[in-house]
Amino acid sequence: MDETELLRTIRSTWIHRTTLSLAKGAVLREDIRAQLERFFDLLEQVVDSGDPAWLDSILSSWASSMTQTDLESGESSMTPIIKEIMTQTNAVCRTTLDSEKALDLISVLVPAFAYSFEKATYYEMQARVAYISNQLEQAQATLERLDRSKSDFIAVAAHELKTPLTLIEGYTAMLREARDPKTGVPQDLELLNGINSGTRRLKTIIDDMIDVSLIDNNLLKLNFQPVWINRILSVLKNELEPASRERGQTFEIHDFPGCGEMTFGDPERLMQVFRNVLSNAIKYTPDGGGVSVDGRKLSGFIDVIVRDTGIGINPEDQGMIFEKFTRLGNISLHSSGKTKFKGGGPGLGLHIAKGIIESHGGAIWVDSAGYDEESLPGSTFHIMLPLRSAPPDSRMARLLSPLLSTASSEDNIQ
Ligand code: ADP
Repeated sequence: MDETELLRTIRSTWIHRTTLSLAKGAVLREDIRAQLERFFDLLEQVVDSGDPAWLDSILSSWASSMTQTDLESGESSMTPIIKEIMTQTNAVCRTTLDSEKALDLISVLVPAFAYSFEKATYYEMQARVAYISNQLEQAQATLERLDRSKSDFIAVAAHELKTPLTLIEGYTAMLREARDPKTGVPQDLELLNGINSGTRRLKTIIDDMIDVSLIDNNLLKLNFQPVWINRILSVLKNELEPASRERGQTFEIHDFPGCGEMTFGDPERLMQVFRNVLSNAIKYTPDGGGVSVDGRKLSGFIDVIVRDTGIGINPEDQGMIFEKFTRLGNISLHSSGKTKFKGGGPGLGLHIAKGIIESHGGAIWVDSAGYDEESLPGSTFHIMLPLRSAPPDSRMARLLSPLLSTASSEDNIQ
């Protein structure tokens, strides 16, 4: 009987025992029996041909199925398996064959196992190198992204801070010239107003940057109080209507179900959200267009809808505009201004709005057919807020409960 036939005689015992002993192995955990049968088939080819390279395919497939923990640990997961297969092979040969045949077969198999150890190390190393280079590539990509957003930040911050600073510089230079020759006191109120608006703008930008850092670090604290959406909108109508009128736009705020109901929220912060969305609607709508506010009541929520007839936003950009420092289009063509056409700011307004609305337990999103400065498809912003009968903090609810019962009965009377 030659060695190939000898090997075949131990097949079923070998498969049975090796499967049992490797049942807890990591690489061979699944379909372990099928894999060992394949290994045995290949072992037969090796003995038949004298070429251990027949084992390459199974060894490389075991290496490629190494788990992430194996790859991270740096320890070999395949060597212990091959060692176990070799030990079982020895034991099976000794228990099922007479000693001479067992020795014959073992001596034929030893080079195959030596080859397997060598190849396993090689394939494992290859898998590990591929894994590490992939990790490096990912780290590199993250670093590049960080670097890009850092330089975006610097470019935008420099541009935004420089505009009001240039204004202040210009006005102070003029003021120096425009002193009363006798008293030395500045004369021109308009110059002072210019300085004032420049510093106000600087303050807004710095406040926005602080808000972004509060939001990004989960430090935004809301001061929950009774609020009425229609009251917030009406304050903002008074504030923003003059600017939209100057641009020849219509500015309409409609009553809608739920807008007069009391809910709980941070009035200052909600005002900031609606101010950002409404001034954007004015900014990104050409002169003569229109901005309107409407809404609907959904179960447990109120959805405030701000529509404009402006330049619109491409679907692929609609998620991005809520990320910080996003300004679409060519930044160098933007003018700095709160309500001027396309008067882009630092690209923080919607990021802050999203942070505030999400801290309220709500959501903000935009719908638009696309961006087109000719056909003006317009944009529709949805600001969805939960309707609350009490602030989320229950201690506050208890304190406010007398007030609440009065307010809700007033609501019923209306
Ligand atoms: P910005 O300070 O630039 O206005 P925002 O965060 O408020 O920053 O908005 C981000 C970007 O989203 C804007 O630069 C603009 O490109 C786009 N955008 C926001 N609102 C509208 C709108 N109503 N119509 C068209 N584009 C808009």
